[in-house]
Amino acid sequence: MTRTGSPPDTSLWRDRLADAIAYRKTLSIDATAYRLVHGEGDLLPSLVVDRYSDVLVLQALSQGVDRHIQLIQDLLVELVHPAGILARHDKQVRALEGLPCRVELLYGEVPHDLAVRDGPVHLCVDPWEDHSTGLFLDQRENRLLAAEYARGRALDCFCYTGGFALHLARCCEEVVAVDSSPIAVDRLTRHASLNGATNLRSRLADVFELLPELGRAGITFDTIVLDPPALARNRSAMSKALAGYKELNFRAFSLLAPGGTLVTCCRSTHIDEAAFTELVSDAANDARARAVLLEKRLQSRDHPVLVSVPETSYLKCLVMRRMG
Ligand code: SAH
Repeated sequence: MTRTGSPPDTSLWRDRLADAIAYRKTLSIDATAYRLVHGEGDLLPSLVVDRYSDVLVLQALSQGVDRHIQLIQDLLVELVHPAGILARHDKQVRALEGLPCRVELLYGEVPHDLAVRDGPVHLCVDPWEDHSTGLFLDQRENRLLAAEYARGRALDCFCYTGGFALHLARCCEEVVAVDSSPIAVDRLTRHASLNGATNLRSRLADVFELLPELGRAGITFDTIVLDPPALARNRSAMSKALAGYKELNFRAFSLLAPGGTLVTCCRSTHIDEAAFTELVSDAANDARARAVLLEKRLQSRDHPVLVSVPETSYLKCLVMRRMG
């Protein structure tokens, strides 16, 4: 609905989609996988469109948008000329809207094995089956940044299919990448060989169990990435989530060698940047690590934050240096 309460017409949809596409063109994105439409951030609430090479993967997450799916599809074909459009309508939030949950081919062809490039890194994506729409595109720019600081021996926690680890492998002596999903770890192993990353080793483990184990073994790292899933899905899960983030960051600082860099992230909308920064600072104190804050970052710019709608900013990423 528009502000006047009338249903949006074709030209409004076309203009907003065209604006979203034009905005990405101004960002000099050096990747073939990125977000083309980010819901409210693009004034298209509940609509997500991700681009994976010449394929689009979309999600209509409310009744209002779902009703216009045919029009949106036609406009995307007109504006982007994709080879295929897939609807990843298996997200649970659709059930809350009373909408069917399924993955559906809307247009053209969408293969199960798509090759994409993220800067210098090559990845394979299965848009039908993989997590979310395929990759965690919101960390694209933070991965490039992490690689600028990374060196020595690195640990990538919650690595999924290697988003950070593959970038770290290009500038570190050795990278250990950890995830509890066997499918993610298998794919990471494939990605390591695709990228010739012989210094990258994947580990299937629960990060909450592995970090204390590494501590007991006296192992330290020069670079650590923490990119956990949102631990606070709603307000009631808050205190447990805060304890979880604190524990992870405490363990990470304890494993970080002096001079080392920690890239620590939080995807929980209910924890704002101030609360997350305070928590990370407390974790550093508890670990007796003297830490400085090098950078405060958001989600990548292809996931725009609407200043008038603070909820459109959800990803926090702090880059910390352990001084001593
Ligand atoms: N850093 C990734 C995205 C992380 S998404 C990237 O850049 O692509 C979160 C990941 O955490 C998922 O792959 C999920 O399988 C993993 N995960 C969730 N709980 C975990 C746990 N307790 N231990 C290890 N991995 C976990």
